[in-house]
Amino acid sequence: MERCKVCRNQSFETGTIELHNSVNGTTFAATLEARTCSACRHAVVDPDAAKAFELQVAAELVRMGRPTPAAFRFMRTALDFRGPQLAALFGVDRGTLSRWENGVLRVDRGAFVVLGGLVMERLSGRDDTLSRLKALQAPPAASNAVVRIAGLPMRAPSPQAKSA
Ligand SMILES: [Zn+2]
Repeated sequence: MERCKVCRNQSFETGTIELHNSVNGTTFAATLEARTCSACRHAVVDPDAAKAFELQVAAELVRMGRPTPAAFRFMRTALDFRGPQLAALFGVDRGTLSRWENGVLRVDRGAFVVLGGLVMERLSGRDDTLSRLKALQAPPAASNAVVRIAGLPMRAPSPQAKSA
């Protein structure tokens, strides 16, 4: 039988809890369902719901478009990237990334936009940009490789096309 982590009680109720996150001077709030200990009122939220809240806050930061150190760090952690991991994906050294997040260096606009793209794609279940960033880490293809392009419209030019 499940026990409360705080008081070891075994009975719970379903209730709600208010979550808050403050970034860039804006507070983001949401009400989530929680299992609440009926003795000590300790509340536990579903980790998936808590993660969804975090990603939605990150999406709001993307829409607000203010590339501050706090926004950058929040978006990175919402995506579960460690600093060195994201630095490698972005092709910058980890010191640069940590200086962006500490406000020592101005956050690179391009990096902020790409990070925002990763947030929005994660929310829509896509990973196009992440795949491209990972591809950049791979060794380049041989320069004499042939890449066949498929799916082009196949039709002969019409006779009028030349005179136009
Ligand atoms: Zn309890």
